[in-house]
Amino acid sequence: MKFKAPVTKNETYDVTVMDLTYQGMGVAKIENFPIFIANSLPGEEIVMKVTKVAKTYAFGRVESWKSKSPDRVELKNKQYTQTGIAPLQHLAYPAQLEFKQHQIQELFYKAHLDQIEVSPTIGMEKPYGYRNKAQIPVREVNGQLTTGFYRRNSHDLVPIEDFYIQDPEIDKAIVVIRDILRQFHVEPYNETNHTGVVRTIMVRRGHYSHEMMVVLITRAKKIPMAFEVVEAIRKQLPEVKSIIQNVNAAQTNVLLGKEEKILWGSNVIHDQLLGLTFAISADSFYQVNPEQTNKLYDLAIKKAVLTGKETVIDAYCGIGTISLAMAKHAKKVYGVEIVDKAIQDAKINAQLNKIKNVKFVTGKAEDQMAKWQADGLKPDVIVVDPPRKGLAPEFIAAATEMQPKRVVYVSCNPATLVRDVQTFMAKGYHVSQPIIPLDQFPQTPHVESVTVLEQD
Ligand code: SAH
Repeated sequence: MKFKAPVTKNETYDVTVMDLTYQGMGVAKIENFPIFIANSLPGEEIVMKVTKVAKTYAFGRVESWKSKSPDRVELKNKQYTQTGIAPLQHLAYPAQLEFKQHQIQELFYKAHLDQIEVSPTIGMEKPYGYRNKAQIPVREVNGQLTTGFYRRNSHDLVPIEDFYIQDPEIDKAIVVIRDILRQFHVEPYNETNHTGVVRTIMVRRGHYSHEMMVVLITRAKKIPMAFEVVEAIRKQLPEVKSIIQNVNAAQTNVLLGKEEKILWGSNVIHDQLLGLTFAISADSFYQVNPEQTNKLYDLAIKKAVLTGKETVIDAYCGIGTISLAMAKHAKKVYGVEIVDKAIQDAKINAQLNKIKNVKFVTGKAEDQMAKWQADGLKPDVIVVDPPRKGLAPEFIAAATEMQPKRVVYVSCNPATLVRDVQTFMAKGYHVSQPIIPLDQFPQTPHVESVTVLEQD
């Protein structure tokens, strides 16, 4: 028999929202069939219209509220919810912090690991205007080159000038650059026909240094009037220290292409964290919330319990931020990272800060760990800060065979954290203290946390 969903598209239903998903969508159920509803919060009684029905779930839209959550705050700007720039903006900040703590706790419960505790989330005093990096799509809207953000689940551009969670100086710079591109009639990218010139404007700004980098990501190799465009950017944005063109001719959602040209100035900008200076190039990873990153690294160092005698491995080290911050407190730090440019930055950063007890290697963390293990390296502490997909099983195998006393796991995805903790547990390690969530991404559902694993 063909399964029939208990809801129909375009019909309205009275529901009570029960839960909030990892994406920040409210969840209601009709005959156990889940319906995901943006801009709705647990406890709210709403009239909901079904917008899409799939096999095992549906999407809906709030038509009206019969009761609202006490944790609801009025929307700053509807566009932020439409686009997913700030999907949690309708939830009061203290409730956002609780949501993130519970998110991790729930996943451990589900894995039958309820003995693992999760502390309250460390938040920000002013949870907006924090992002030090913007990647803004450029398209034609109403016959004009326009900057903004994609409407949720689409590639339609919604024009936006105030991005709310970005450094306001970056927002201003985007508008200035947009106007310069308009002035010199530079064509925006057209995704359907794969024509036009500028696809994306990326801006990075050092929170402490106030140095700015502008990257124009283009489909075409040549930017018409490039000289004039660059001169105008320099003149109108005096903080700019680096203007780069990145050519991405492919029909893809991947942002950066391989070919990079320095149009003007330096290939890096600098910023400071924990009293150290860092050079950052266009395609290197650098944490996006500087104020919280200081707290995150401080926490990671504290949890590593260093006395100056330890050998430390910093896997997934990026431009060496955690490695260099730890080097001051350890005997020797080894860093490994897959992006070669980032490792080049890391080496420059060691020199910039006159730190000698570090060694940086380009490679896949899982391969390099196996090599270090074969070479007989015996780290006391291993720090990991992997991307969302978490650690490879071979990584955990090599790491645990080196028998470090302690592993400090910085995670940006609680689902893979839980999976990896289970693998560590099978190899003789346990979570030795409450997990600490730290909010790197206010107004969004992203959850960052620090976990300490110790040998049984
Ligand atoms: N600890 C750094 C970077 C963390 S982001 C910081 O706080 O700035 C994760 C990093 O892992 C990125 O720099 C990414 O390029 C790198 N990476 C992704 N997959 C990897 C792999 N398999 N091996 C090594 N590094 C990897």
